[in-house]
Amino acid sequence: MRSPSVPVPPERLTRPSAPRSLVLGEYRLTHIPDGLVQLRPAGWFPGLGTDALLGHEDHLDPDGCLVAGIGGLLVEYRNRALLIDTGYGPRRLTASQTHPALGVLEGGGLAAALAEAGRDPASIDTVAFTHLHDDHVGWALCAGSEGPFFARASFVLADTEWRTSGRSTLPAPLHSRVTPASDGDEIFPGVTLREAPGHTGGHARYVLDFGGAGAAPGTDGGGQGAPAGTAPGRGRLLVAGDVLHSPLQVAHPEWDVFFDADRESALRSRTVFLEDASAPDTLCYAGHFADVVFGRVRKDGEGHTWTPLH
Ligand SMILES: [Zn+2]
Repeated sequence: MRSPSVPVPPERLTRPSAPRSLVLGEYRLTHIPDGLVQLRPAGWFPGLGTDALLGHEDHLDPDGCLVAGIGGLLVEYRNRALLIDTGYGPRRLTASQTHPALGVLEGGGLAAALAEAGRDPASIDTVAFTHLHDDHVGWALCAGSEGPFFARASFVLADTEWRTSGRSTLPAPLHSRVTPASDGDEIFPGVTLREAPGHTGGHARYVLDFGGAGAAPGTDGGGQGAPAGTAPGRGRLLVAGDVLHSPLQVAHPEWDVFFDADRESALRSRTVFLEDASAPDTLCYAGHFADVVFGRVRKDGEGHTWTPLH
């Protein structure tokens, strides 16, 4: 049985997203894939009732796992470029090497995907992290003989995340490039950091306001022949980060996540996000949502549903 909230070909629920682009006013947004991680539902959502996934089988891959894509969101505006999260990096762990709540965890595609998008990593002026877990900071830790992969970007993250785990996660040579930000700070033209604690103590989400007179709507469905979606010429796009990991959580924010550091705060952040996301003229980007990363949250009675955009 198909989940009514996700009316797309079923294969898109069990594969990581291809590169997908969206033009919103003066902004071009591109999902830059890096890899994937398999989430074992019973481990990822501890306390899940035995019947909870009935009717959601279309979200499970042949191993019985949810498939979370890993990657980043490239935001290009005039002569500026922002990348929100940097994937896992060029490495792979088998299921037996990860964690009982996980299966395979692999990255490595981001460099080629950036090149395909016509973007040299040295031309990215701002890298913003939602938080500092491995699958979000991967390429920021990479360096070759010519220096760090992101040769000149400043690194933005929530002040709390920087204070609690920044120095131990990011290599010392990058510390002088870190720009901690607080709730409501504009970190790139039109992009604001919002604190969304729970998954980590200093987890952030981001809000892109692409409003403004004369904004020209347009879309560009990328990857695997996907049809273009439709988008308004003005409004907001919310970047969820790890407030949400699966489209199933849009209807079930009450499901606890094993890796959330503070489950009460995480539930509050999911609730706030879904409420904000269901406002008019609001689109969302949820980088872990298999191949349905761009979408809208709609109110449905007491709950919410996810409608992919492309
Ligand atoms: Zn993550």
